[in-house]
Amino acid sequence: MAIATVNPATGVTEKTFEAHDSQEVDRRIALADAATRGMRTTSFEERGRWMNAAADLLEADVDVVARIMTLEMGKPIAQARGEALKCAKGMRFYAEHAAEFLADEPLENPSSVNASAAYSVYQPLGVVLAVMPWNFPMWQVVRFAAPALMAGNSGLLKHASNVPQTALYLDTLFTRGGFPEGAFSTLLVGSQAIAAVIQDSRVKAVTLTGSEPAGREVAANAGSQIKKAVLELGGSDPFIVMPSADIEKAVDVAVTARVQNNGQSCIAGKRFIVHADVYDRFAALFADKLSALIVGDPMDDATQVGPLATESGRDELAELVDDAKLHGATILAGGSAPDRAGWFYNPTLIADLHNGMRLVMEEAFGPVASLYRVESREEALEIANQTTFGLSSAVWTTDAVDEQYFIDALDAGAVFVNGMTISYPELPFGGIKASGYGRELAAAGIREFCNLKTVWKG
Ligand code: NAP
Repeated sequence: MAIATVNPATGVTEKTFEAHDSQEVDRRIALADAATRGMRTTSFEERGRWMNAAADLLEADVDVVARIMTLEMGKPIAQARGEALKCAKGMRFYAEHAAEFLADEPLENPSSVNASAAYSVYQPLGVVLAVMPWNFPMWQVVRFAAPALMAGNSGLLKHASNVPQTALYLDTLFTRGGFPEGAFSTLLVGSQAIAAVIQDSRVKAVTLTGSEPAGREVAANAGSQIKKAVLELGGSDPFIVMPSADIEKAVDVAVTARVQNNGQSCIAGKRFIVHADVYDRFAALFADKLSALIVGDPMDDATQVGPLATESGRDELAELVDDAKLHGATILAGGSAPDRAGWFYNPTLIADLHNGMRLVMEEAFGPVASLYRVESREEALEIANQTTFGLSSAVWTTDAVDEQYFIDALDAGAVFVNGMTISYPELPFGGIKASGYGRELAAAGIREFCNLKTVWKG
C-alpha cells in the first residue's frame, strides 16, 4: 500500500510520502537503542516531566492534530478533538502513576526462601516496535507509548500507511517534550519492511494493534525470535439487553457504541442480542435512531457519521451486508451506501440472521449493527460466545442474577454492565481468543514490556 493521505470523504489523494530506506530504518533503530541505554539512568520524575511536557504540547496542538486525523481517516472532527485530549490525559496518567506501578515488590518473609532479603524489580526491556492501525491513530499509539517510555523503554512506531501525517506528528512529539533523541520515532515504511525490524537483535519486543492476519504474521515472526509480543486484534463484541434493562437508555448507548468512529472501533458493540420480551421495542427505537443520524462531511461539527477510512473497508462492509440480505436477513435501517463521493455507508440495522451468513461470525468494521432475538439468558450467552473473538462485551440488566451470570460466563477481556465499552487509562484493556493476548493500560499495561527481575540475597 502506498504511504499517502487520501481523504476518505472525497477519495482525493492529498499527499504521498517516500518510505524510509533501509539505511534510515537502521539509523532510527540505532538511535532508539542508544536512547534506551540512556533512559535507564533517568528517574521516573524526570521522565514524568518530559511526558507532561509532551501532553502540554499535544493539548496546545489539539485543533491541528484533530484536522490531520479527520483528513486522513474520516472520523468526525469533534471525536478527533476528543481523541487528542484523551491522549494527553493518558500521558499524564502514566507520568503520575508509573513509579507506583513499577515499584519494587519485596517478599514479606524472605526466610521462607532462605534469604536475608528477596524482592522483584521491573526493568525496561529496551526497544519496542509498535505496529499500529489507523482507526484511533493517536490513541492506539499513545496508549502504548506513554507506559513504554515511562518504564524506560524506547518506541519505534510503524503506523498504518494511510495515516502518515499523524505518524509524523507523533515522530517528534515526545522528543519535543524532552525525551532523548530516538526514544520514540516513526519508521515510515510499509508492512513488508516489518519482518526485518522484528528480527533485528536491537529490537526486544513488539506490540501490534490491528487485524487477525497481521497479528498472526507478526506474532509468528516474534515467536521465531523468542521475543515478547502483545496483540490487540479484532472484535465482534456482544451487547446483550435483558428484560429488566432501561430500554431507552440502552438504545441511546447502543447507537453511540455502534457508530462512534464511523463504526470502526474494535470494542464497538457489533452484535445486539436482545431478549424477546423487549426485542420489538428495542428494534424499533434502534432503527429510528440509526436512521436519524447525520451522515456527512467529517470536518463539519454537526456530522455524526463520516466515511469509512478506506474504499476497500467500505466495500468489504457492503459485501457482508449483501451476503446477509441474499441469505434472507431483514434490513431495519440503512443497508446501502449513499449516492455521493467518498466511502460512506449508511448506518444499518440488520435482523433475522442465521449461521451461514458471514456477518454472524465476521467482524463488521463500519456502522452496521446485527440484531438477534433470544428467549433466555442461556441463549444470549451462546450467541455472545459463538464467534472466534473475545475482546469486550456489554450487558444491560438490573437483575443481580443475570448480571453475575454474564460476568462469569462471557468469553471476553472485559464486561461492561449498563454501559458501553470504553478504554480508560485506569483499567486493563485486551482480549482473549482471536482478539489477541497481553494487556494495555493500567498497571498491567506498563508491566508488559518490563523484565520482572528477581533479587535474592543470602
Ligand atoms: P491491519 O491491516 O492489520 O493494519 C494494522 C497495522 O498492521 C498497520 O500498520 C499495517 O500496515 C500493519 N500490517 C498489516 N499487515 C501486516 C503484516 N503482515 N506484517 C506487519 N504489519 C502489518 O488492520 P486494519 O484492518 O487496518 O485495522 C482494523 C483492524 O484492527 C480491525 O480488525 C480492528 O478490530 C482491529 N483493531 C483492534 C484494536 C484492539 O485494541 N484490539 C484496536 C483497533 C483496531 P499497513 O497499513 O502498511 O498495511
